[in-house]
Amino acid sequence: MFLADYHLHSSCSFDADDRMAAMARAELKRGVTEICFTDHVDFGMQETMQIGPERFQLPRSQVRQFIEAMEKAPEGIDIRLGLELGEGNHDPARARRVYAMPEYDFILGSLHNLRGEPDFYDIKYQSLDQCWELCERYLDELIELAGINCFDCMAHIGYCLRYMHKQGFDAVIGMDRFGGRLDLLLHTLIENGKGIELNVADLVTEGRPEALGLTFPVLDVLRRYRELGGDIVTVGSDSHSVKTAGLGVREGYELLAENGFKYVAVYRRHKPEFKRIEL
Ligand SMILES: [Zn+2]
Ligand SMILES: [Zn+2]
Repeated sequence: MFLADYHLHSSCSFDADDRMAAMARAELKRGVTEICFTDHVDFGMQETMQIGPERFQLPRSQVRQFIEAMEKAPEGIDIRLGLELGEGNHDPARARRVYAMPEYDFILGSLHNLRGEPDFYDIKYQSLDQCWELCERYLDELIELAGINCFDCMAHIGYCLRYMHKQGFDAVIGMDRFGGRLDLLLHTLIENGKGIELNVADLVTEGRPEALGLTFPVLDVLRRYRELGGDIVTVGSDSHSVKTAGLGVREGYELLAENGFKYVAVYRRHKPEFKRIEL
């Protein structure tokens, strides 16, 4: 069965430890035969903005590791270069320039922090009301981001929930509470030819007490995307080390099939290509 992991980090990302060659080996062990490295570039974190057109540190280190991975990785895995571009809506002109750089096949559009706020990871949540309010503002910013041509697929819709749940607040970004905003978000993505990611970083719970057993987005949002005519989905493990490389990708494909999707997307030069899901 063909499996592709379109969200993973190498040690070119500030929060990941393993080089591309080791990540590729670990992915292949889990049966994944195509991967795309999506190292962090966040407008909200200046230390990760090591990218052109003014600065080239990140592409330089990615290309160095990419060549090493080509030499050292085992046969049978196709390796692509991408980025996880965070908060493109905070600096749209620059985000569009990054998107136009020739090095990358695929760019994920993320939102890790609201304008003027810390990363959702760093917020101390005090009440469920506060969480709902942050979820609304998060969706409003995602809608802005969806209208900017600076990415191929929107990453982990519902990212903020991960940290709310870890602090005991079970907010959910689903159709019942946020149907209006989610419809607007999904319509905007579809009209602009953008896909969504099914992020499976928290899906597999076996031996992982920290995992929430959820996908981002949750499944009713995934189904709504399809109902509205959306058909571009990538699956991403969002792994930051060899321990989790490729974990959950197979289960993500199964969920796509169960929810009516026949194809998963891979990318060449920002163009989706569709691979049939065969379980
Ligand atoms: Zn992310
Ligand atoms: Zn990531």
